[in-house]
Amino acid sequence: MTRMQDAALRARALKVIPNGMYGHESVRLLPDSFPQFFSKAEGAYIWDADGNRYLDYMCAYGPSLLGYRDERVEAAARAQAALGDTLTGPSPAMVELAETLVAMVDHADWVMFCKNGTDATTMAMSSARAQTGKRIVLVAKGAYHGAAPWCTPIPAGTVAEDRAHVRTYAYNDVASLEAAVADAGDDLAAIFASPFRHDAFIDQEAPDPAYARRARALCDTTGAMLIVDEVRAGFRIARGSSWADLGVAPDLSAWGKCFANGHPISALLGSDSCREGAGAIYATGSFWLSAVPMAAAIETLRIIRETDYLEHMIRLGDRLRAGLDTAAAGSGFVLRQTGPVQMPQIMFEGDPDFRVGYAWAEEMLARGIYVHPWHNMFLCAAMTEADIDRTIAAARDAFGAIAARRDELVPHAVLVAMAAAMATPETAG
Ligand code: PMP
Repeated sequence: MTRMQDAALRARALKVIPNGMYGHESVRLLPDSFPQFFSKAEGAYIWDADGNRYLDYMCAYGPSLLGYRDERVEAAARAQAALGDTLTGPSPAMVELAETLVAMVDHADWVMFCKNGTDATTMAMSSARAQTGKRIVLVAKGAYHGAAPWCTPIPAGTVAEDRAHVRTYAYNDVASLEAAVADAGDDLAAIFASPFRHDAFIDQEAPDPAYARRARALCDTTGAMLIVDEVRAGFRIARGSSWADLGVAPDLSAWGKCFANGHPISALLGSDSCREGAGAIYATGSFWLSAVPMAAAIETLRIIRETDYLEHMIRLGDRLRAGLDTAAAGSGFVLRQTGPVQMPQIMFEGDPDFRVGYAWAEEMLARGIYVHPWHNMFLCAAMTEADIDRTIAAARDAFGAIAARRDELVPHAVLVAMAAAMATPETAG
């Protein structure tokens, strides 16, 4: 597998893009052989700039739900594009899409559209503050809610005041949540929660129903808003709110990534309990009301309602998890496979510095399978049983290959440097 084009693009990028790349799609923290640039995608597959094809277990970090370039969604997008996209006002599609989401997501009485997940989580925070007239927001320690100054995990370029009223609690830990709420006194605006604990670098955790219910009750007694950040997990757990099964309804939920199957749109959904606050904030963007992503979303949501895309992904995820466990055991490895099977986190037992995980990801990449060593992955509905079986077969070979050179594996230099920086008191937490 050659990556000459990728190397050339990286060299050019270094001159015209800071560090050659930024943010979550930078390969800085991925194994060295991972390509940075991709030239095309179709269904469950991506092609790098050199034309190498991979079965993609990242799905663009979430946006590809039905598979890349799903023809049904693309036809809807093309039809709208023929009429217009970014106009002087929104298209009728905006109202239809808002009605669709309100019908599908139990707690929602209204919707505001935006572009990225960060827009939606930031609007959630502002709406909660406007609604309550209070300042403090609680977030689970280590949870990701976006890249704005109030929530970015890398504080460079922000000031302490940006986070002055953002405090943390431990996910799934009722006592810690209660203590944080008590500490906030009568100044609590909101509690943020992810549908499940999907932080990077650690095992994923299902939400403890007692924690979810307590968060709701604490918001009820204090008047604070409960915000569920569905940006990553939304519509991959359920066809509506991810906490509906727990019987817990948030006041606000932030959605993004996949509900237009890769077309750029996100949304803040809210209950009447926060309608006034949401109506009071000034929220907008030049591209937020573009019609093409809305048309794509309406079609994606129809497919979500009318097909077994979710059950299909779960079936494949179960097959993958079982197959990988068996394959790993064959070479003496024990995997830590956590999270919902359709959003798997795969790490190795006894691999604190990720050297085995990185080596395995590189061996998988060399076999045409793109897996991530420390971020949760995503299945998509375009994957097939044959894709899963091919993955398991490749994994068996990859486990064998790393077992043979286990003593020679070294940790990834950039990851080690980052872990050391995180361990210093100034940047911890
Ligand atoms: N919340 C969660 C849970 C996310 O996973 C992400 C993106 N990974 C965001 C918010 C921010 O979304 P975006 O990158 O689209 O701004």
